[in-house]
Amino acid sequence: MSEYDVIIIGGGPAGLTAGLYASRAGLKSLLVEQGVFGGQIVNARLVENYPGFPEGISGTELGEFMRRQATKYGLETLNTEVSGVRAGNAYEVSTTEGNIQAKSIIIAAGAEYRKLGVTGEERFSGRGVSYCATCDGFFFRDREVAVVGGGDTAITDALELAQHCRKVYIIHRRDQLRATKAMQEKAFSQPKIEMIWNTVVHEMVGDKMLRSLHLQNVKTGQSSNLEVDGIFVAVGIKPNNQVFSQLVTLDEAGFIVTDELMRTSAPGIFATGDIRHNSFRQVITAAGDGAAAAMSAFKYVKE
Ligand code: NAP
Repeated sequence: MSEYDVIIIGGGPAGLTAGLYASRAGLKSLLVEQGVFGGQIVNARLVENYPGFPEGISGTELGEFMRRQATKYGLETLNTEVSGVRAGNAYEVSTTEGNIQAKSIIIAAGAEYRKLGVTGEERFSGRGVSYCATCDGFFFRDREVAVVGGGDTAITDALELAQHCRKVYIIHRRDQLRATKAMQEKAFSQPKIEMIWNTVVHEMVGDKMLRSLHLQNVKTGQSSNLEVDGIFVAVGIKPNNQVFSQLVTLDEAGFIVTDELMRTSAPGIFATGDIRHNSFRQVITAAGDGAAAAMSAFKYVKE
């Protein structure tokens, strides 16, 4: 059975930066990722707020740069799924490729899109239902679409969609947005955007493709039908915590609680990036947290 100083679980900006710092610090390091290296940023057409790239950079390219930079210094990578982590003398990580031991663990498993859970959502996923305006907005050029949610993601998505769609409805379950004031003002002054307040999506309807939404006003109980070509669900994200829920303390929303050194409730286990409680969920903060987690893991392993 292989033994590492540190196993990093998750290959987004947090995990890759942790891998860069851990391997440069001389730790025998392995990063395990079940999907594409780069994490959620691979869905971003252009990342404009990552320092060092004044013209912006595509998410795919940034992820690939991070992977190349981290592996250059000896970080090993494994493309497989982690099914469990067991504590003992060392930590034992179970994967579909076998068990691997390590003195410390950095959890950087991220988070995924929250779904509405209504009839038709799964059936029309990829056929009109999307969770990423940046990835799929292009397919709805000159069409009418809806965005569900009232947070920064929903408003950012609506503004982005308004650049190429004919009409964008924002369907929100309350009569106030959660998004920052500046974003709200931009949305209210964009003529293509129309707010539908106090309303939830009851059902998504169509044939081969999504055709319309059954809506319900939560104040009046009144039902209505809205014809759209697409719906973008932007109702938050949920942490990928399934494997870790018995291992470390989670907050009430399921995110991993850490201190400022990225230490969790279990000695030698660190958490970083979107899976961490109170994360800003930005590429730069995930990368910063990743570096901090690696430095804390280094201190733990050496002590
Ligand atoms: P969020 O802030 O948690 O907002 C989720 C929205 O979805 C809320 O308005 C919520 O309604 C609504 N919602 C939740 N469950 C729902 C359901 N089942 N049915 C209908 N509506 C539902 O999530 P987010 O917008 O993805 O943002 C996450 C974090 O990333 C935030 O901290 C945000 O500031 C940050 N972010 C920043 C930027 C940026 O440009 N700086 C961009 C995107 C995101 P209620 O309001 O009623 O709870």
